[in-house]
Amino acid sequence: MAVSEQGPSAIELRDVELSLGRGAARVHILKGVSLAIAEGQATGLTGPSGSGKSTLLMTMAGLERPDSGLVKVAGQDLGALGEDELAVFRGRRIGIVFQSFHLVPTMTARENVALPLELAGAADAFERAAAELRNVGLGHRMDHYPAQLSGGEQQRVAIARAVATDPAILVADEPTGNLDEATGRSIVDLIFGLRRERGGTLVLVTHDLSLAAACDRTVRLRAGRIETPADAPQTAPVA
Ligand code: ADP
Ligand code: MG
Repeated sequence: MAVSEQGPSAIELRDVELSLGRGAARVHILKGVSLAIAEGQATGLTGPSGSGKSTLLMTMAGLERPDSGLVKVAGQDLGALGEDELAVFRGRRIGIVFQSFHLVPTMTARENVALPLELAGAADAFERAAAELRNVGLGHRMDHYPAQLSGGEQQRVAIARAVATDPAILVADEPTGNLDEATGRSIVDLIFGLRRERGGTLVLVTHDLSLAAACDRTVRLRAGRIETPADAPQTAPVA
């Protein structure tokens, strides 16, 4: 067996192929993606619009299943899990932040953050949700509904929700894409600050070059393929 020279991989993808849509609208999006992301690493995922960044991120997060290939997160082969097991695994081990926040509109900030904790069976979900909201600077907005919050505040709630269960990996898809520059910067500071505080592995889709530069490493996608495969796992040796 080959001995890895790096630490254990938090995320490993091997020969991932993925198509979405039906019939004539079917699109071959990921075309043989192999990638290893070490534990604790912050990776910036860049590439032109339509290159497959969101699809790749959702595949890492277990929200999309590949047509073929391996997706391993925190040592777990996601393909080996049934839908219910995968949902449980996701809820406990993977935090997800979207560009458009995706908060539950009928729940307060505190209820939104408590939700994944309750699903994970935490008895003190509401107390922990309050602590998470204070930690992102929203102690004074606990009982507000998403529509009563600014975009930046909504993204803070979404980040508090994503990290509440102390996930092994945090993925964020253009988390500053819907925010003005100053607010976006404060969100970036928050994400990197939480990372310093708690560790964990971060994968961040971004168009912002300064944000990508703040990561340990950048991976660039083009038309469903990785352009910088320096850390891709070894495939079969060339004869
Ligand atoms: P990016 O995030 O890099 O902009 P996406 O992963 O969102 O790229 O999409 C990659 C390509 O796949 C795009 O051409 C997009 O139109 C297409 N696509 C995304 N989702 C679907 C879907 N559900 N059905 C069909 N095509 C899709
Ligand atoms: Mg996208």
